Amino acid sequence: MRQIVFTDLDGTLLDLVTYSYEKSLAGVNRLKEIGVPLIFCSAKTRAEQEVYRRKLGIFHPFIVENGGAIFIPRGYFPFSFEYHKSVAELLVIELGTSYKEVGQLLGKVREESGFHFRGFGDMSDEEVAEETGLDIDSAKLAKQREYDETLVIASEAKQSHITSGEIDKFLQKIKQAGLNWTHGGRFYGVMGDNDKGKAVKIVTGLYREMWGAIETIGLGDSLNDLPMLSTVDIPILVQKRDYTWENIDVPNLRKVQGIGPEGWSRAIKEIFGG
Ligand SMILES: [Mg+2]
Repeated sequence: MRQIVFTDLDGTLLDLVTYSYEKSLAGVNRLKEIGVPLIFCSAKTRAEQEVYRRKLGIFHPFIVENGGAIFIPRGYFPFSFEYHKSVAELLVIELGTSYKEVGQLLGKVREESGFHFRGFGDMSDEEVAEETGLDIDSAKLAKQREYDETLVIASEAKQSHITSGEIDKFLQKIKQAGLNWTHGGRFYGVMGDNDKGKAVKIVTGLYREMWGAIETIGLGDSLNDLPMLSTVDIPILVQKRDYTWENIDVPNLRKVQGIGPEGWSRAIKEIFGG
């Protein structure tokens, strides 16, 4: 049976703070060597993921912005399927609400709740760079959002003493506005009706059509990976920076030793050898 691997990026394949993939390179190369597709499934934008696709030489389908859309290289699957648009040589299946609409709904929540938050769309390139630790060029790519907004609440909470109760209330308001939220380890993501799991299901279906029965593996580190991990056959959680695992309850969940990329490579080695 053929296998495919879905992976989160920040805090999983990439170091949460430095965004380095140095420690996951061995695992990435092993998958390439044995021809197992590595499918990015991240909150990162298309523009950001394209950088890592080029650097790592990964040319498989990829899932952006917490399942907002799936990008599939034209001709990758040897049959036709439904998609919403094409961008350069990529066919796009869109699952998310447009970034513009998410922003409008968030604006309403801001007005009604009076809660203080900043989205990447409210921030300059420099501010995004400062909050994320990205360089300016990467911050520009992170701002090229098409489906979900990234909110900075936590760091400001320290400065302005926002309580967790107030954050909970604000998150409820987001739900009431018809939006959804998740957490990626550092930031909140706010989006329409999409999540990583729905996108993983569609991509898995396409591979099944191509190869028949397949086994799916998923690797993540945070709450926003929960829908992906509950969709795959082998869900794997890597450690967070404090050596703990995110408190996620998924049947058959494998908790691997190792922070982010270190745990990532260990898990790949356990399954695929090398
Ligand atoms: Mg992550």
